[in-house]
Amino acid sequence: MKLNHQETPLKMMKSPPKLLKLIKENRKFLIVSHINPEGDAIASGIALALGLKKLGKYAYILSKDPLPDILKFLPDSDLINTRLPSVNFDVLIMIDCNSMERTGFSAPGESGRGGKNLRAKTTAVIDHHLLPSRDTHYAQPEKSGQQSIRWIEPNASATGELIYRLLTLLHVQIDKKIATNLYTAIFTDTGGFRYSNTSVESFKIASKLINAGANTWEITKEIYENIPLNYFRLLTLTLSTLEKKGKIAWITVTRRMLRKTNTSVQATEDFADRPRKIKGVEVGIFFRQDGENLFKVSLRSKGAVNVADIARVFGGGGHANAAGCVIKGSLKEVQNKVFQTVRKAIKG
Ligand code: 5GP
Ligand code: MN
Repeated sequence: MKLNHQETPLKMMKSPPKLLKLIKENRKFLIVSHINPEGDAIASGIALALGLKKLGKYAYILSKDPLPDILKFLPDSDLINTRLPSVNFDVLIMIDCNSMERTGFSAPGESGRGGKNLRAKTTAVIDHHLLPSRDTHYAQPEKSGQQSIRWIEPNASATGELIYRLLTLLHVQIDKKIATNLYTAIFTDTGGFRYSNTSVESFKIASKLINAGANTWEITKEIYENIPLNYFRLLTLTLSTLEKKGKIAWITVTRRMLRKTNTSVQATEDFADRPRKIKGVEVGIFFRQDGENLFKVSLRSKGAVNVADIARVFGGGGHANAAGCVIKGSLKEVQNKVFQTVRKAIKG
């Protein structure tokens, strides 16, 4: 076929041949993503499952945490399960994360906090997060005697981009349902095509997805224009906790604030992005109380500071401009630890 000279083929149109072979040669797939799943994790999982089904495979999506209300509009969102069936899976595909710990489950032989063991003959990882450093608890699938294939592309804006490439290489026809899911995955992980991870590739794939039936305004309305009133009540309380010191600004959500507004952590999905918006702020931080003495810390940067490096100090991870971790201690203790590390990073 002659290519129109104006049109460049999608760059990096590759996925490990081993992964393609693995999919072609197996039948039963277990798809798992990370705890507190968001748009990319959920929608990429649904799209992958739909694609595998089109190839005549059995695909089951398992999530430690339930489907967030805001994502219930996704076509075939009822494919998200929170129970592990007693099926002998051929392949476990971890998407949008690269450690067993992030899935909230545990590998065979481990007695992780997840309780249930995820078992399959082979494990594959499809992700766009950097691997954690060696000193964190990285549950390598190899360690449990399982074979594994890892496809990690930190330059991809979303796992949805990788699923698009994979399905295309598998000659799966991208229908409206798959397109809507994949568009949502890329749309949410790029903050509506605004963040630093937004690339030519993201727009190229998005345009293919729109051609295949994804409706941009319908998806935008579901994601950004459909927020329950009590989420706003929580936001109001949260913004009153805003503080700024030098180039750092932060906000905090306590469990008491969730109770008071009758909301859950789902309501805080886009809160982490807010402190960074302030003029002069280099690092924005969101502290969310997840237990009496346990805080989820989300970090966002817009300058040279690599917040994934900061999150990794505390056993977390993510991307250069958006990362997270969980830290034990009182709010004051957690804040002091984080501020110290962030200040060092800003100076360095
Ligand atoms: P958020 O702060 O919105 O939860 O996450 C920002 C980015 O950091 C996402 O890409 C997310 O996957 C990653 N991230 C958040 N928390 C953790 C964590 O505890 N561990 C790791 N490895 N990554 C995290
Ligand atoms: Mn993602």
